[in-house]
Amino acid sequence: MTQTTQPIQQAAAIVARAHRLTALVGAGLSASSGIPTYRGPGGLWTRQRPRQGAPPLLSYQEFVRDPAAWWQARLAAETDPSHPIYQMKQAVDQAAPNPGHLALAQLEQRGILHCIITQNVDNLHAAAGSRAVLEIHGNRNRLRCLQCHRRTPRNTQTPQNPPQCQQCNGLLKLDTVMFGEPIPPDVLQACRQAAEQSDCMLLVGTSGTVNPAARLPLLAKENGATLIEINPEATPLTPWCDLSLTGPADAILPQLLNSI
Ligand code: NAD
Ligand code: ZN
Repeated sequence: MTQTTQPIQQAAAIVARAHRLTALVGAGLSASSGIPTYRGPGGLWTRQRPRQGAPPLLSYQEFVRDPAAWWQARLAAETDPSHPIYQMKQAVDQAAPNPGHLALAQLEQRGILHCIITQNVDNLHAAAGSRAVLEIHGNRNRLRCLQCHRRTPRNTQTPQNPPQCQQCNGLLKLDTVMFGEPIPPDVLQACRQAAEQSDCMLLVGTSGTVNPAARLPLLAKENGATLIEINPEATPLTPWCDLSLTGPADAILPQLLNSI
């Protein structure tokens, strides 16, 4: 037995025994689908850190200051090939689920995985066939009303600027949670509940530095859960983990699935 297979067998045994397995997922899972992470090797901010605060068009304060100006600038950025928002949009539009996303979907279909809490906004879990997905940072394909919290597909966006909710006339923003924006209370509550109720949590491709998502594993641990990390690098959450599977998630998750 090699050094890398041994922890996988241990993890498989823990996962097989779990009654309420959850997964907290970060940008690292989608890295091998061609979507860059923010942190870690090759991450956007590892290469070029924003000088101060959030990059332009990504802060909530900027949005609420002048939503019409924000929407106008956002739509322009999405069609400007030199803009980072255009480049990220291209990467996500062209991305397909990788074997890591597919393995998580299989774990759910086999009745082993209770739910995914994802920080990713790229919709690749749904594309892989996962159903029980809590999107703590929203979904790039949707809009959210700031007044009634209703989510609608982005392709139904009305032409007025700023776009308005057809249910309550409230202000619509992208469903993706921006820097400085509170997590919508409905999804935050569901994530906390899922963490508290889990007896085992997989931490997949997350740097463990963005709160409140990074606190969810600690909440699970306080309630007795076993934590298993899957990441090529150590993170601030590593010391809290019972087991670390070191390597890319698109290789490790299928190995884990096949070892159960
Ligand atoms: P992060 O960018 O802060 O960290 C990425 C982590 O993934 C690092 O720990 C890195 O070591 C690890 N990693 C890199 N390659 C990996 C691989 N092949 N397999 C497993 N792990 C790998 O990511 P985060 O913790 O999710 O937080 C960043 C924030 O940015 C989140 O809020 C998220 O919403 C957003 N974001 C989302 C996407 C996306 O939707 N795909 C992409 C970039 C950033
Ligand atoms: Zn509304």
